[in-house]
Amino acid sequence: MSASVGEFDLIARWFTRPVKRAALGVGDDCAVLTPRAGFQIAISTDLLVEGRHFLSTVPPQHLGHKSLAVNLSDLAACGAAPLAFTLSLALPRVEESFLDGFSKGLWALAEQHQLDLIGGDTTAGPLTIGITIFGEVPTDGALLRSGAKPGDELWVSGGLGDARLALEWFRDRVSLDEAGLRQARQAMELPEPRVELGQALRGVASSAIDLSDGLLGDLQHVLRRSGVGAVLEEGLIPRSALMARQTPELQRLCVLTGGDDYELLFTAAPLQRSSVLEAAKAARTPVTLIGRIVSEPGLSVVGASGHPVPIEDLRSFDHFVT
Ligand code: ADP
Ligand code: MG
Repeated sequence: MSASVGEFDLIARWFTRPVKRAALGVGDDCAVLTPRAGFQIAISTDLLVEGRHFLSTVPPQHLGHKSLAVNLSDLAACGAAPLAFTLSLALPRVEESFLDGFSKGLWALAEQHQLDLIGGDTTAGPLTIGITIFGEVPTDGALLRSGAKPGDELWVSGGLGDARLALEWFRDRVSLDEAGLRQARQAMELPEPRVELGQALRGVASSAIDLSDGLLGDLQHVLRRSGVGAVLEEGLIPRSALMARQTPELQRLCVLTGGDDYELLFTAAPLQRSSVLEAAKAARTPVTLIGRIVSEPGLSVVGASGHPVPIEDLRSFDHFVT
């Protein structure tokens, strides 16, 4: 901590605002939430470490946004409505411009979703951001990874791969023009979590997950938890015009294994198709049918030509496998 701004000044100045929904927020030993009758509390935690989850090139305001966005995306995947979050920060030093930008991005997204910041912890250390988020779902109404059934259709929101395209640019593996780079960086640094869609899909989708590590890997989580398999049609996977201009190999990498998409992948019975489309319309979020669930375990990907796509070499992100 710098000599001028102490830990408690820092919390008071950048991270304390009156709470709107929580019973008690920052300043005591615990925060207090009052669950509504008939609802359950959904909880999710994410840890973001500089150099692992974000590049040092990210503007602080975007980092504040993204730190909360990835947590909101987990609530969205469960169909939960956001309530509150805690923020644990390790900072190498008190840098006012960093804290101004970071807190600005964080509060903007928090207000957009009526979220209270109710507590946290602050320490000196390598830049690390830990957020725990709390949401509410009607009792037993949460969307889970485990509910996919053979015959269900497989859907995804938005478009995939642009965030990975930005990463490939930072790694010097692709060149992009100014507009392309802006779009890709926006996808990487300012994801919009599908909070409204998640809630609209309650009672409609049979399973859901948010795409954080890449389509193939995240889909396999659903398949394993549900004890089913899937056939995915590569040509149906939605992507931006920018992505569609890249080489087929790069598109495959970005779209199938990309990571950092923060779109929702979900399954629904074919009879629910019109309800899915209504939910998407209500949430003003595009959704696309990309495959189907089968009883035989395993995942197969069919290319645009109808031939199987070999996926053994296409791995999603794993922090401990390199
Ligand atoms: P304790 O000693 O009980 O752990 P602290 O002194 O660490 O409490 O924190 C004081 C208050 O400030 C607590 O209410 C805590 O939740 C809150 N707080 C600490 N860091 C943050 C932060 N980064 N954002 C929001 N609230 C924070
Ligand atoms: Mg503490």
